[in-house]
Amino acid sequence: MNIELVTIGDELLLGFTLDSNGAHLARELAAIGVAVVRRTSVGDEAEAITAAVREALERTGAVITTGGLGPTSDDLTKPSIAAAFGRGMRLDTDILEALRARWIARGWGKTLPKANEQQALVPEGATILTNRHGSAPGIWLEDERSRWVAMLPGVPREMRGMFAEEVLPKVRERLGSGPTSVVVSRTVRTTGIAESLLADTLKPIESHLAGLSLAFLPGWAGVDLRLTSRGRGTTDATAILDAAAAALTETIGPFAYGSGNDDLAAVVLAQLSTNGMTLVVAESCTGGMLGARVTAIPGSSHFFLGGVIAYANEVKTTHLGVGDDTLIKFGAVSEEAAREMAIGVRARYRADVAVAITGVAGPDGGTPEKPVGTVCFALDVRGAVKTARRQMIGDREEVRQRSAQWALDLVRRRLRGDS
Ligand code: AMP
Ligand code: MG
Repeated sequence: MNIELVTIGDELLLGFTLDSNGAHLARELAAIGVAVVRRTSVGDEAEAITAAVREALERTGAVITTGGLGPTSDDLTKPSIAAAFGRGMRLDTDILEALRARWIARGWGKTLPKANEQQALVPEGATILTNRHGSAPGIWLEDERSRWVAMLPGVPREMRGMFAEEVLPKVRERLGSGPTSVVVSRTVRTTGIAESLLADTLKPIESHLAGLSLAFLPGWAGVDLRLTSRGRGTTDATAILDAAAAALTETIGPFAYGSGNDDLAAVVLAQLSTNGMTLVVAESCTGGMLGARVTAIPGSSHFFLGGVIAYANEVKTTHLGVGDDTLIKFGAVSEEAAREMAIGVRARYRADVAVAITGVAGPDGGTPEKPVGTVCFALDVRGAVKTARRQMIGDREEVRQRSAQWALDLVRRRLRGDS
């Protein structure tokens, strides 16, 4: 089965919003053996929407759109596509009632704004796709030749939920049960190792990857390795990918920290849980990013106590007990200062593990001895303290993200027993 996607919204054409909906749908469909053969983006303009959907229908007979289902005048998807099918619009009183109930339940008032009524207009002969994640219902429209269009909202979270619950089952039904080849990927996540060194490390096993493609995807979190299988059935693809991912992970050793979308913070929390340890942080240049990373993980409250954002020297000395003499002699960005920050914060909150970060995030503040991107770390695990100094690359934001990631990795490596 071939499908075309039409994503709708001026923001896509103006470049303010990346078409993550198109990307998500393409991945999800590939995973069940459906090829997305074309993706089109159009603005909030009735004729453009009608034309794009009509042309896509002529090519594949199967189209998914996102966007333009909202209550405002730039939401034109339903009437424009109804026009492509030669259908009129009718008011669906059930939808109207549901919208009114939702409005009242959210405490926004007793009367539904007039603008919302437009969301209760549906093309003649349409099937309603329930939206459990927002207000705008989706629409499934089909003609007598079984050509169909599924209309989903633009908001990514609503779109993803509705696609999984309402559209995917219908697409599967149409696929039938015959043999299909699917596109499946596995990601192995690495950090703390350069892409080129990783490539060298993997050279010996690359020939064993059995017709899988291997992509190196570097970013501030590290280098993700994505293995992709094409042209196999789900069972074969899964077995081959599992074996290849295991081989990669083994070869990479301590630099591999997870798979899929695993977050290093979640990995560290799991280690703390295993060891029955608590964590505190002292952050200067990251200004709370490390704490934010950890607290983003559900359940972090069992193992993460908190910490101090010690940005100014005065906070480093007053709240963490960093010595004035240390700051004068070595500077705030030094392994010595980081050491005292970690020791200070661990003592103050009586935690098992403390990690400290202090660095020059830039763009100003660099010196020949400590250029922008110089970041010092300290890790104190029950009194055993280690420090490190790294040169981070990238702009201010990236230096900060890389620093938080590196600090988490310091904890991870120590708790798994690496030096
Ligand atoms: P709409 O359903 O057209 O009112 O879109 C609501 C919001 O969804 C927009 O403000 C965008 O931020 C977002 N959005 C719309 N289309 C896309 C898309 N293709 N990819 C990612 N986000 C989108
Ligand atoms: Mg829109």
